[in-house]
Amino acid sequence: MTTNAEPLSPVSRTALSVARVRAHESAQPEPLFVDPYAAAFAAAAGMPVRAVEPDRAFARSLVAHSILRTRFYDDRLLAAGAGQVVLLAAGLDTRAYRLDWPSGTRLYELDLAPVLAFKEQVLADHGAEPGCARTALPGDLLDPDWPRRLRAAGFDPRRPTAWLAEGLLVYLTAEQAAALFAAVGELSAPGSRLLLEKGRDVARTPRDPSLAHVTDLWEGGLGPDTHHWLAEHGWTIRLTGLTEIATAYGRPLPPGSGLHEAGFIEAVRDNAADWGNGPVSSSR
Ligand code: SAM
Repeated sequence: MTTNAEPLSPVSRTALSVARVRAHESAQPEPLFVDPYAAAFAAAAGMPVRAVEPDRAFARSLVAHSILRTRFYDDRLLAAGAGQVVLLAAGLDTRAYRLDWPSGTRLYELDLAPVLAFKEQVLADHGAEPGCARTALPGDLLDPDWPRRLRAAGFDPRRPTAWLAEGLLVYLTAEQAAALFAAVGELSAPGSRLLLEKGRDVARTPRDPSLAHVTDLWEGGLGPDTHHWLAEHGWTIRLTGLTEIATAYGRPLPPGSGLHEAGFIEAVRDNAADWGNGPVSSSR
């Protein structure tokens, strides 16, 4: 069935790019994860599943990064053991459907209305059923009203929450990112966790015209200082390098990929850090 992806704004179309990468990885002989709906999103938008173009080093590195981060966040979200999960800018993330959540888990997905409408349509066409209590909350995370709307939808700020901001920060300015995380901090009970990418210096982004539709949208967020900002605003930080993750998952980074400075931030609210079983579990 074809679903109209036309109303998606350029930034929301980046969710389709990620879905295409997940579809490609899901079709590999030994995938790091299987997203059973990723190919359906690409098909519904009339797009082919992402084939990795071997001659484009930067494109290859973005694909490798997206694949590793998907699996890393899968593992760390489940390890967080929070009964309340919020996916900020959820896009076409299908974790509500594909991960083995503990019973009683409540999961909220926030993103712009058109991308969530497209997602709901494709998932409904495929008879998808979430494995947790899922609430999709359309809206703009730049609108300061989103915390009130999240609470009105049932979110309980007294309960520890696992927050995920995957592939979002780079599309915000520093001021927008700071306002978003200030709001997240106010909603986070002690012991809450926040997962996101280590900030990058977008001024050093390699120029690849085939990726301009994505990289031209990058504002940089809080940049390389992201983890310092969080540490100064009530979070205890752990950084995990992409190289370490890639090795642990048996997908060493190609030489010259430019990814050796990349990594992930895992933050725990109010110094209640107990990192559990380490950053990466090699089994699922
Ligand atoms: N987290 C998802 C994933 O990894 O599959 C989607 C990542 S995609 C690269 C970026 C997402 O950010 C898009 O779904 C887009 O709609 C969302 N986004 C960007 N700005 C937003 C805003 N101001 N409010 C809500 N969502 C936003």
